[in-house]
Amino acid sequence: MNRKITTLFLMGAITFGFQNQMLAQTESKMPPIIDVHVHAMKVNPGFAAGDLCPWFLTSMPGSGPNQPAPSFINTDCVDPLKAAKSDQEMQDAIIDATKRLNVTMVVSGDAEIIHKWHKEAPDRIIPSIGVAPGMTVEAFRDSLSGGFYKVMGEIAPQYQGMSPSDMSLDEYFGVAEELGIPVGIHMGTGGNGMANITSPNYRASMGNPFLLEDMLARHPKLKIWVMHAGYPMIDEMIALMGANAYVYVDLAGLIWSYPQDEIHDYLKRLVQAGFGKRIMYGTDLMIWPKLLETSIGLIQNATYLSHDQKRDIFFNNAVRFFNLNEEDFK
Ligand SMILES: [Zn+2]
Repeated sequence: MNRKITTLFLMGAITFGFQNQMLAQTESKMPPIIDVHVHAMKVNPGFAAGDLCPWFLTSMPGSGPNQPAPSFINTDCVDPLKAAKSDQEMQDAIIDATKRLNVTMVVSGDAEIIHKWHKEAPDRIIPSIGVAPGMTVEAFRDSLSGGFYKVMGEIAPQYQGMSPSDMSLDEYFGVAEELGIPVGIHMGTGGNGMANITSPNYRASMGNPFLLEDMLARHPKLKIWVMHAGYPMIDEMIALMGANAYVYVDLAGLIWSYPQDEIHDYLKRLVQAGFGKRIMYGTDLMIWPKLLETSIGLIQNATYLSHDQKRDIFFNNAVRFFNLNEEDFK
């Protein structure tokens, strides 16, 4: 079997295996899952054609600067995940999935969409707020003090080529620290050719987990999690978590985009290094509702994780990190 067919086969087997498990469990309630990394966005009908093959970063094309930019996603697989075609379709699919799969989501992004989803399923949606361009510290504090938003994120200075310890962000982190609001910060991966495709200011070096150290030293009471687990900087990530006992990570984005062997090596290393209690499940879900099943399946199929370790990643670690009440999920 060539590499591509092998990959397709594995994907099919995993999806199929997971669906079987789903069917077997339809009568009993699935154990709860917390997805700490979901994006609410208005569906752009132009982009809605953007169906997606999971684990599409298995082969980075060898293009050049005078050729068309590499496409961010690809559809060259048997069963691409369909992009939602409208805001309503996305909302219906998401709310349905949260109930069917017993998922609660931390959602950041478009405020109008977050409010709509939250209205529809208040127990399933935990609203998160980022720092919009031009937003003053006072306005940010007011938004957080209102009580609707429970989380700050996604903060992604890397896309502006900026360190998370840059002083222009410091007062916002100070507000979160003061109000006891947990913060999610994008560190690490951006896909293939991010600097060429959409974000010329994106710098891989600004995803180094060590860049968080100065900010953390200035805000000793701040609780942060590193989104995308600082992929692929595993040594730095482990060292940072070792030095800073309250730092958690999520697995979002990487668990459905990079080659599966690579994802498992990274996750296994984090667990092996002793951080199984500080890894949270997340998708980075945007406009592909079925990504939930795909991403859950990857963790369920991790043969090197025990049942308890999977439950920690899917649920227990997030309950602890976000100070949630386990009883609310029964
Ligand atoms: Zn991100």
